[in-house]
Amino acid sequence: MIQNDFKPDTGLTQHKSVEVVNLNVTSKIIAQARREGRKALLETEAKTICMEYEIPVTKFKLAENETEAADFAGQIGFPVVLKIVTPDIIHKSEARGVMVNLKNAAEVKIAYGKILENAKKYNSATKIVGVLVQEMAPQSTEVIVGAIKDPQFGQTLMFGLGGIFVELLKDVTFRVAPITREDAQEMVTKVKAYPLLKGYRNAPQADIDAIINALLNTSKLVTDYSEIKELDLNPIMAYEKGTKTVDARIILE
Ligand code: ADP
Ligand code: MG
Repeated sequence: MIQNDFKPDTGLTQHKSVEVVNLNVTSKIIAQARREGRKALLETEAKTICMEYEIPVTKFKLAENETEAADFAGQIGFPVVLKIVTPDIIHKSEARGVMVNLKNAAEVKIAYGKILENAKKYNSATKIVGVLVQEMAPQSTEVIVGAIKDPQFGQTLMFGLGGIFVELLKDVTFRVAPITREDAQEMVTKVKAYPLLKGYRNAPQADIDAIINALLNTSKLVTDYSEIKELDLNPIMAYEKGTKTVDARIILE
């Protein structure tokens, strides 16, 4: 069972060898993916790595049947979000594998079945690990922190605001890792949409320091693990106090 309100179980605990016993959580997760021949980490794995690097993420628990999903939703607190967990689907909403704002156990059970059905329709060969139950993060200004391993510059960080700002307007900043606090501050303040983060009309002021910390921690992560080819925290909800990553994707070389 993969969950983040207790110590994450990476599945290695029963068979500790001398080599793995001293490895941290991130190394174990990467080693496990390698052994299974996977390049894309599961959302559970990517979020567990984020936790090790002090990047705040939603509460989550991996359910293997609808009863478990409903139980976990009750423990986490409604409303919840359900998502497909499989190494075969990278863009979950494209496969209609994300259902948000589920308000009670009955809705969770129905959504569980729908998500499995949609995943199989999308790709009948999909190996489904389970369905992730997670807290529904309140709506807020969405930001994106990314990293790509550039063939020339190496690990490179990206920052932008969510939705149209990155996708349509390409309003993003880049810096080569590792970055300093000053670099991170520049990355945030130099996007054109920055005034939105300072509070504009209905958008509340966002916690700029918390966003800067997310950038710095991501910089440390991709610097520590040069085998990370792509990282995508998309979206991160930016609140007046703190941030919360609702989706995390990590692709290995
Ligand atoms: P994808 O693999 O398609 O990127 P996401 O996990 O990002 O899937 O989910 C799609 C969208 O659903 C997100 O962009 C966000 O708007 C919303 N969403 C996902 N998880 C949550 C959550 N825990 N709380 C609130 N909104 C969420
Ligand atoms: Mg996403």
